[in-house]
Amino acid sequence: MFRLCSIDVIVLIDRENILGYAQIIRSMQGKPLLYYDGYTFYNKSTNNFRTRWICSTHHRKKCRAAIYTMDSRIVKKNTVHNH
Ligand SMILES: [Zn+2]
Repeated sequence: MFRLCSIDVIVLIDRENILGYAQIIRSMQGKPLLYYDGYTFYNKSTNNFRTRWICSTHHRKKCRAAIYTMDSRIVKKNTVHNH
């Protein structure tokens, strides 16, 4: 059973306009997942305070979609999926 620990909301902002929302889902034992637009992404790396999330099918389907977050904002995204 997948037990949720917490869900954080990440906001996609273009200047002052909110363009969308993503969620960071943390399970009790698992690693955090970012959920955006029907796809899940996992935390690949964090540097310069920026976290890179890559599509959870990255290895299986070679999907190159990725989202970069900083604090609680999406700062960059490539959400073109190949699946
Ligand atoms: Zn994908």
